This record gives sequence, structure tokens and C-alpha cells, in this order.
Amino acid sequence: MRIQAARVHPYRLGLRSPIATAHGLLTERRGFLVELSDESGGVGWGDACPIAGFNMEDLSDCQEALRAGCAGLLQGAVSVASAAANGGRPAAQGALEVALFDLSARQQRQGFAEFFPFETPDPSVDRLPVSGLVVGHDAAEIRSCARTLIGLGHQSLKLKVANRAWSEDRIRIQALVDSLIPGVQIRLDANGGWTEEQARQAFGAFSGWPLELIEQPVAPDNLDAMARLREFGTCPIAADESVVRAADLEKVIESGAADIVVLKPSALGGPTASFEMAAKAIHAGLTVIVTSLLDSVIGVAAASHFAARLPRGRPADGLATGAIFEQDLAPALAIVEGQLAVPEGAGLGLRPDPDALEALRTAPPFEVHS
Ligand SMILES: [Mg+2]
Repeated sequence: MRIQAARVHPYRLGLRSPIATAHGLLTERRGFLVELSDESGGVGWGDACPIAGFNMEDLSDCQEALRAGCAGLLQGAVSVASAAANGGRPAAQGALEVALFDLSARQQRQGFAEFFPFETPDPSVDRLPVSGLVVGHDAAEIRSCARTLIGLGHQSLKLKVANRAWSEDRIRIQALVDSLIPGVQIRLDANGGWTEEQARQAFGAFSGWPLELIEQPVAPDNLDAMARLREFGTCPIAADESVVRAADLEKVIESGAADIVVLKPSALGGPTASFEMAAKAIHAGLTVIVTSLLDSVIGVAAASHFAARLPRGRPADGLATGAIFEQDLAPALAIVEGQLAVPEGAGLGLRPDPDALEALRTAPPFEVHS
């Protein structure tokens, strides 16, 4: 296969409602769709949508890395790793790898996951249990959103906390708990926003709630505090922002900082790097959850194929994020009884909708030449 043309499409997705996190208020997501074409007219797509808080490149560095990476592929590099100096630009690297896999898998009429260059113990699943993201500022909004998500069959509901006083978060969490039906659990995501002391105060209140896990209660580099909070024993701890590079995972394992590790293939440089980390985490006895980067449906589709190849029986993945957008680059992946339908067919199983791509672009696409 020879890459004959590369185009990069800058896009912007507006959120239906702002999402407040400890990293700031999200009102939109901006990124780039990568389009690679081969000599026989085949096309593959990948999504680069960096986000604050995960030690990723900014949009301008991402664009530069995509230019360099595409140029390398056009010059005949056979892999993303050899295409260009993408080190430290994981969003760009991941998008290029996904576009290459998509193109290669379509060419061989295989599903995206079947094309991964690694072996997994279980065959792919076509449905993935996914958590629902609760969006809402106050108790009334939270109750309303929770009812909708429970109606969609989600058995795990996630709420962002730690970007306001604990007294307010406590009321919001209680509103969510009051909305639950039997069998539905909640998970909290503090995005590293608490001090150890604030986290201890929160953990002290956890015992009465059906709490499945808490993501990143304290700052990503404060692994000792996470290890001490684990001893508190009221809730399993998931490392998220603490694990943005392979070396970070080693530190989390060594320090005993987490029960669970959250892997975002779109933030980790793509499926190959993510799989190496998942294998290492599972070998060390950690549970793996896969989440999106609140990126476009193209990025979420790639993450869903990756998650579908991991061992079964894990907690719900965080891939039901398409509903936060006013409009996406293609229709959001279907959620059926709390499970996400992994796209079927060759390659990623979906392509961007040309009209949506036109409507959501922030600038004309740029062509990369070798
Ligand atoms: Mg998180």
C-alpha cells in the first residue's frame, strides 16, 4: 500500500451544554480529521482532538505534527512511528495510526480491530457496556439528565466533581443518588481537583452511596496520596490523568496508587501504544476502563474497536460521549440498553458525513505534499 494523498480537516464541535471540570469549563471541542488516500482510491480516517489536562500537544503543535507525519507517510514511511518525529504529540500520532489502520483494513475488507498488530485473548464483542455522562450544574438538571440516561439503560452514571465546594458537590451527588433505580451505580471524576485533605473529606461521605469508583481524586503526580486514599477503603480509585505515558503506568503500578486505570487511546498515541499499556496494567492486576477523549465520533469509533478487543467483564467503558455534541461528524454510535454498538463493516465501520464535515469545519482542509 502506498499513501498517495493526505488531507487534514480542521473542525469544531459545539457542546449542547457546557461541562464543568477541574480543568475548566468545556464549551466546544476542536480538532483535525486526517484523510489518507492510497493509489487505488481507498480512504482512511483518523481523529486528532487534544484536550487540556492530559499532557498533550496543543492544536498548533498537533497541526504541525500532522503535517510532518503525513509528509513522512507520503514519502513512503511504512508506519506512523517511522513517519515523523511525533514524540510528545500523542493526538497526532494516534490519528495517523487510526487512519492507516482504517485504510489498510478497508483495503483487506477486514474490521478495524481485526487489523490490530497484536493478539488478544478474547474475540471482539459487538456490544460494550458504557457509562452515561451526567451533565448538569444544579440538582434539578442532574436529576433530569440522570432520568434520561437511566431510560437509555445505562447501569453506570458518571458525574464530574471537584470544580466547586464539596458542600455543593455533596448536594449534586445526593441528587444523582436519589434519581437511581436498583442496579445502577455512580462513578465520580474529580479530574485531580482535590487536595488530599479535601479528598479525605469526600471519601468520608462515600459509604452510603452506590459508588462504583472515583477517577483521579487528587493531582496526577500525587501517587502517594492516591495510595493512602486507597487504604481508606470506601471506594476503588481509578488513575486517569496520572497515566498519559507508558512510563506513568509503571509508576502507578509500583506505588500502588490505583485499582483501575483509565486508558484513552486518542490521548495515548493510538491503539498499539494503548494495547501495550492495557496488557501491562492487566498483568499487574489492575482493571482497565477505556474512555473517549470527548472527541468526534471517528475517535470514539476507534476507541470502541480497541475496547471491544480487551477482556470482558470490565466496568463500563466511557464511550457514550457523542450525546454531548450539538452535531457530530457522523451520527453518534447507537446506545442500546446501556450498551454501545461497535460499528460493523470494513475499517472503522463509519466515515464522516460530507455535509457535517462541511458544516463543522473551521478552515478549508489543507493538503500535505511529500
Ligand atoms: Mg477522567
